[in-house]
Amino acid sequence: MPELPEVDSVKTSLNELISGKTIESVTVRYAPMIEGTPAAFQNALRGKTIESFSRRGKYLLWHLGNKTLVSHLRMEGKYYLKDAGAPMDAHEHVAFVFEDGKALHYHDVRKFGTFALRDHAEVYTTPPLDKLGPEPLSDAFTPETLRTWLKGERAIKTVLLDQRTVAGIGNIYADEILFCAGIHPKTKARRIQDADKLARCIKDILQKAVHDGGASIRSYKNTLGVSGRFQLHLSVHTKEGEPCCFCRSAIVKTKVGGRGTYYCPRCQKH
Ligand SMILES: [Zn+2]
Repeated sequence: MPELPEVDSVKTSLNELISGKTIESVTVRYAPMIEGTPAAFQNALRGKTIESFSRRGKYLLWHLGNKTLVSHLRMEGKYYLKDAGAPMDAHEHVAFVFEDGKALHYHDVRKFGTFALRDHAEVYTTPPLDKLGPEPLSDAFTPETLRTWLKGERAIKTVLLDQRTVAGIGNIYADEILFCAGIHPKTKARRIQDADKLARCIKDILQKAVHDGGASIRSYKNTLGVSGRFQLHLSVHTKEGEPCCFCRSAIVKTKVGGRGTYYCPRCQKH
């Protein structure tokens, strides 16, 4: 699933490719992806000019003046820039056609992606954005805000995946962050002593991934469109049996809250 860095790179690409375009029409092939009726969705979007794209947590926001479209790519949603007359392929479920002869197709094999249209004035105070915690790369996220969640019996990885703690962390980066912090993923939240180090690892790991992602996506967007996912420079996630980059111990795979979880048994302690 795309996490904060991947959605950020999609946002950056869409800002370069799509901002300023005016929507001429919208085709909806798979109605459950849209909140409300497709007809209301199409009518509300027709004639709207896209001012910009932004990101909040793992959500992509289309800023359309008095309306904001909230898009979640879920497992493997992707956007592709095409010409207005291009046919929609079997896995493309929504197409936005622009007045300048271009179109943006939303591609999603699993069909888990969602689109919700909101009044701009209410977008941050209504679901799905209203319950999100602070943005980890903003000044609003601090060791103090993190410390308020370091209590109770839940595993620390579960706490990091809770979008109320901090917005945008998913299964991949949670593993990488806990490796950076030297914390075993099953450690109970109340036992975490060093909130400063954990907060610093959250910022460092995500910042580096945003930077690397921004670099990689520019190199292939012209042929592949705008991809929703990439994985770069991972230290533990999916590295079962490979040597830890610090101590050479074999990386171990386990499960935390039902999610596949990777860690170094020597560097990461309870
Ligand atoms: Zn190690």
